[in-house]
Amino acid sequence: MGKLTNFKRSLWVFHASGGSCNACDIEIIASLTPRYDVERFGIKLVGSPRHADVLLVTGAIPRDFADKLRRIYEQMPDPKAVVVVGNCGTTGGVFYDSYNIAGPIDEIIPVDVYVPGCPPRPEAIIDGVVKAWLKIEKLEKELEGKKE
Ligand code: SF4
Repeated sequence: MGKLTNFKRSLWVFHASGGSCNACDIEIIASLTPRYDVERFGIKLVGSPRHADVLLVTGAIPRDFADKLRRIYEQMPDPKAVVVVGNCGTTGGVFYDSYNIAGPIDEIIPVDVYVPGCPPRPEAIIDGVVKAWLKIEKLEKELEGKKE
């Protein structure tokens, strides 16, 4: 794993749940509770995609949520990264090929990191967020290079 070097502020994360059974979402919340406490690393959940660097998405994405997910993604400022948490969003999982499902998520918005599992453990979710963090650092360096 690479070293975090360039990102000089906290990493803000927006969580969108699209048709999840809630187990993936509970594991995301578990990563914020005192046992894992990701806020000590500067990783913080925020209430608006307009403030977020990383989008965490769970669930197989029912058809009526697909446009909402696109809108959430478009509202996030660049540089940004998307992390899919769980098998439902990664492949469709138990809902694969279901008539009312628009996912997997990478058919709706670009995905940077997949965290498989049903549900994945908090350690795996935190590892996925760190991978997204590294990607954002790289994108930020590229954007800074373009400004010079
Ligand atoms: S991947 Fe498993 S735990 Fe996560 S939302 Fe789907 S069914 Fe639930």
